[in-house]
Amino acid sequence: MFCPYCHGEETRVVDKRDNNDTGVTRRRRECLSCRKRFTTYERIETICLNVEKRSSKIEEFDREKLKKGIMKAVKKRPITENTIDELIDDIELKLLNRKSNIIKTSEIGKMVLTRLKKIDKVGYLLFASVYNDFNSINEFEQALIHLKDNSN
Ligand SMILES: [Zn+2]
Repeated sequence: MFCPYCHGEETRVVDKRDNNDTGVTRRRRECLSCRKRFTTYERIETICLNVEKRSSKIEEFDREKLKKGIMKAVKKRPITENTIDELIDDIELKLLNRKSNIIKTSEIGKMVLTRLKKIDKVGYLLFASVYNDFNSINEFEQALIHLKDNSN
């Protein structure tokens, strides 16, 4: 991404809007060199990305569904919608660069967890408990204890 005014490479997104009907994302950016603002439009090519559920049923990857799932799990945490959008952007990019177009829900869950862990530890645990990533209640409790120990 180059600034159209000074051709600087470093820009910052100041506003982002998705148009779900057209699939176009509009980003308002600010150049970090000259501070001028400009708008970019991004359109994701229709990609076929499938998700294999625990029941081995195959479904199309649904970004909104994933977003709702994360937001529901971490709703009491100070994590903004923007942060969640960025987290999913990052995952989507990873998924698009894979050779296979089928991914297991558990793999996506792990990708979310890895990222949430860096953002908010409690949010990470909340999401983990929803996604049943822990094999047992015991394992979940261990993780909680571990978290408490670390925060002291
Ligand atoms: Zn510039």
